Amino acid sequence: MNECIFCKIINGEISSKTVYEDEFVIGFEDINPMAPVHILVIPKYHLSSTESVDSQNSFYISKVFEAIPKISKIKNLDRGYRVVTNTGEDSGQTVKHIHFHILGGKTLDLKMC
Ligand code: AMP
Ligand code: ZN
Repeated sequence: MNECIFCKIINGEISSKTVYEDEFVIGFEDINPMAPVHILVIPKYHLSSTESVDSQNSFYISKVFEAIPKISKIKNLDRGYRVVTNTGEDSGQTVKHIHFHILGGKTLDLKMC
């Protein structure tokens, strides 16, 4: 996807503060952090949201979830963290490349919506 900013991060056209990378996944610091630790984890395969996940591409999502506990250790989130993904207008999704927010580094607000 030419115009997708997260695809541009994957291919290096846009720089990011990468905290984790493997063949299938990249994790980087959110540019506008909402918690002391705020990492975005994305597959290196363009899917616009959870609405695009199916049996043909769910492998990439499993790789994201394999990366999450590795990132939690890199960021010392031993007290816990929250994983959030927004889908569509009502959620406020702004970037149309599926991404998972890892939020932590403090006791998080219990109100989730
Ligand atoms: P969402 O609202 O779930 O679509 O989240 C998109 C997130 O991407 C927001 O938290 C933004 O701060 C973040 N973001 C947008 N552009 C960049 C960028 N170039 N580098 C890092 N994070 C970004
Ligand atoms: Zn993309």
